[in-house]
Amino acid sequence: MNSESPPQFLVIGGGPAGSAAATTAASQGRAVTVVEKDIVGGGAHLWDCIPSKTMSASAIRMDSIRHASRLGLKTEPSAVDMTGLSTRMAAITADINQGLVDLLDSQNVDLLSGTARLTGPHSALVKLKDGGETQLRFDHCLLSTGSAPRVPEWASVDGERILTTRHAYDLPEVPDHMVVIGSGVTGVEFVHIFAALGSEVTLVVSRQQVLPYRDPEVAATLEEDFIERGIQMVIGARASSVERENGGVVVRCDDGRVVEGSHALLAIGSVPLTADLGLDDAGVTHEDGFITVDEYQRTSVPHIYAAGDCTGQMPLSSVAAMQGRKIGRHISGMTVTPLDYSKVSQAVFTQPEIASVGLEEVDAAAHGRKVRTTKVPFAANARSVLQGSTRGFVKVISDPATGVVLGGTIVGHRASELIGIVALAVSANVNIRQLVETLMVHPSAAEAITEAAE
Ligand SMILES: Cc1cc2nc3c(=O)[nH]c(=O)nc-3n(C[C@H](O)[C@H](O)[C@H](O)COP(=O)(O)OP(=O)(O)OC[C@H]3O[C@@H](n4cnc5c(N)ncnc54)[C@H](O)[C@@H]3O)c2cc1C
Repeated sequence: MNSESPPQFLVIGGGPAGSAAATTAASQGRAVTVVEKDIVGGGAHLWDCIPSKTMSASAIRMDSIRHASRLGLKTEPSAVDMTGLSTRMAAITADINQGLVDLLDSQNVDLLSGTARLTGPHSALVKLKDGGETQLRFDHCLLSTGSAPRVPEWASVDGERILTTRHAYDLPEVPDHMVVIGSGVTGVEFVHIFAALGSEVTLVVSRQQVLPYRDPEVAATLEEDFIERGIQMVIGARASSVERENGGVVVRCDDGRVVEGSHALLAIGSVPLTADLGLDDAGVTHEDGFITVDEYQRTSVPHIYAAGDCTGQMPLSSVAAMQGRKIGRHISGMTVTPLDYSKVSQAVFTQPEIASVGLEEVDAAAHGRKVRTTKVPFAANARSVLQGSTRGFVKVISDPATGVVLGGTIVGHRASELIGIVALAVSANVNIRQLVETLMVHPSAAEAITEAAE
């Protein structure tokens, strides 16, 4: 594509946001070019969602083998094969990537391998991976360049002992003692992975609970599990340095506490990948690198959109993809309703899993909103008991005046799947009586949802 045949829609960054926008716009007959510097599928497929959940799947299996005797089973001695695990992760990423490349290809989306930079409000320069560069003109553009792990100045990440999440997938052996710094979603997921693979794990928690902004009851259930697994938690400690010492690592906290381990993993948030994107050249407004957008994802230059992690909105792959699809429709002249962030369902992939949608009790309390909360523990659910996974509960939140389901939280086995039922109830404004009247399979974990609604 060159200046004589301007692309109608240029997508910079082919992660969940970019690829969803590209396929939606292409299905509406738009000419689309995607510029991607690594792989389509993005960080989500290369470093984040897919590899972390693939690693987690192996860790969960290892955990269940280790505890097989609880289900009356005898197992052979088992061990983790880190090379086998990395090979599996790479194969899965390659498979998913190929599927996406084929999909884009089938829709005649032009895929350019290279790095793009805006040079004006209607133009971008692409440095092609195989050498050379090309200037593109567009009438609509999407900036969906994602984010990268935040590395503080007090940590010298070396990819061997001091790691970001991007280094966690290629370790030659299961670490003896992993120190995880950061107890948000990413931090606790890696605590679970390494503990289940067999590492000793210490978690440095800067606040008073893990998952600091979540329902304290949820955090307490997870902490209970961590304690049972022998995970050390250093609560209320802010890491201020991490260094390699004596063949391992030493993490120093600002209150004087010191934690030693074989490896350290930083999970302390991310930074937007927008520094070299030419935002100022195109007149696109940003704050600390996060691109400012309106409810239709338009930037300060209305024909340039931004979506996904580079906007600093809810950093989830599902959200990025939904924003992308809506942009694809918007630029194609279709009617689009803005995304309702209060109805996004999300999960933390620990064991037990934690999933929620809509209003949480803590949010209701913070806004002085009256809600009806009903709850049942999985210990009272037949399927959970026979599976040996009774930790956790289902909480359903409804409006006491109208009965409309406003939200739900599930902590338990496969909570990330079960939450879909509550998510549908929330998005369709279902009345709690309809949930109670829904006949679920017996025995199933889903029965706990109807019981919690009662
Ligand atoms: C460890 C971890 C696990 C996660 N797990 C989950 C999960 O289970 N579920 C979930 O919903 N979310 C998860 N997330 C969050 C999720 O990964 C992100 O929200 C999601 O990837 C954002 O999608 P995106 O399209 O904005 O960006 P990305 O997926 O990061 O894609 C951006 C793409 O843009 C490309 N790019 C950047 N700059 C340029 C340029 N100048 N030119 C061309 N290409 C460029 C990059 O190479 C990249 O491919 C996880 C995050 C982490 C860190």
